[in-house]
Amino acid sequence: MVNRSLRVTEYAANRILINALERTVKTFYTDHFVLPLPEGHRFPMSKYRLLRERVQAMPAIELSEALAASDTELLLAHDASYLQRVIQGTLEPKEQREIGFPWTPGMVERSRRSVGATIAASRQACVDGIAVNLAGGTHHAYREKGSGFCVFNDAAVAARVLQREHQQGHTALTAKNRLRVAIIDLDVHQGNGTASILRQDPSIFTLSLHGEKNFPFRKEAGDLDVPLPDGCNDEDYLLALDLALDTVHKQFEPAFLIYLAGADPHEDDRLGRLGLTFEGLKQRDERVFDFAHRLGIPVAVTMAGGYGNEINNTVSVHAQTVATALNHYERMKRPVAPLKLQTGAAIASPITPPITPPITPPTTPPTTPPTTLTTSTTKTISTTLE
Ligand SMILES: [Zn+2]
Repeated sequence: MVNRSLRVTEYAANRILINALERTVKTFYTDHFVLPLPEGHRFPMSKYRLLRERVQAMPAIELSEALAASDTELLLAHDASYLQRVIQGTLEPKEQREIGFPWTPGMVERSRRSVGATIAASRQACVDGIAVNLAGGTHHAYREKGSGFCVFNDAAVAARVLQREHQQGHTALTAKNRLRVAIIDLDVHQGNGTASILRQDPSIFTLSLHGEKNFPFRKEAGDLDVPLPDGCNDEDYLLALDLALDTVHKQFEPAFLIYLAGADPHEDDRLGRLGLTFEGLKQRDERVFDFAHRLGIPVAVTMAGGYGNEINNTVSVHAQTVATALNHYERMKRPVAPLKLQTGAAIASPITPPITPPITPPTTPPTTPPTTLTTSTTKTISTTLE
């Protein structure tokens, strides 16, 4: 077995340790850029403010306002004509309806800020190991159109901004060649826009666990899609996630994660149709952060969707993700093992060995996986789970 963790641990682990010892978790917010909505609109705009207020009370969190994404950055994942029409407010009524928001200058600014916060969290995660955007996860936006409350695709833009900066030697990461980014999309809705934008890009892996019968009704093939049945419970969800993360590890070898931690798989969600509890969602977040920890790679976290019957439940799920991210950050402060280069030479480190063992593929295949995993054939990855 090739130990892929060796290659990714060439990244500046010592630098992350030093920063983690000295700093707080950087968390970016955009809720003061309000997107004006008509009364009764079903998008829960207030959740962002409520979430920031909840997070403000947590220890070791440093809240920052992110810059707006620039045209140049947005064009890494979007069509120039679409961007221009969004900015000028000249989308066709049908296109605007598909987005689900009325056009206003505030919509444009808010959308730029949301992408900017995911870019900022990604840059910061390269330094600190983890950083958070209290918005983002706008995964239904395509290259040339918006959809489902998503104008620009923050994860696709941020992944490419990071790759460009890495190529220019401007990140703290030491991964060689093109930065390999995995987008772990655990919102209950499929990341159709993300899959569409990145389908031909072998350097970015798209994983989506989503409700099979939920929006979008026409799914786009990503690199790994895991459709889940209505009512899916904690146990089945977490088993499917474990299998999916093993597959990402074995088939892609990511050097960076962007995590869409949607609150809408929660059992109280109006749109979710799944049955996850608070505890199940906490374990979901822990699984993703464990994955990053064991591979020794950074993770940028975004919130994505959440439409609870009771908005406080949605806010609680998101706040729990931030609290779990804090635990992950605290764990990074603890000792880790001396790291080995591929040549076998150890990187000098005064730190003692880790508690967590490196990820290894399962030795026996599961006999009854609860879901079917489907993978795209457009990239050079195998299509079966072992
Ligand atoms: Zn969603």
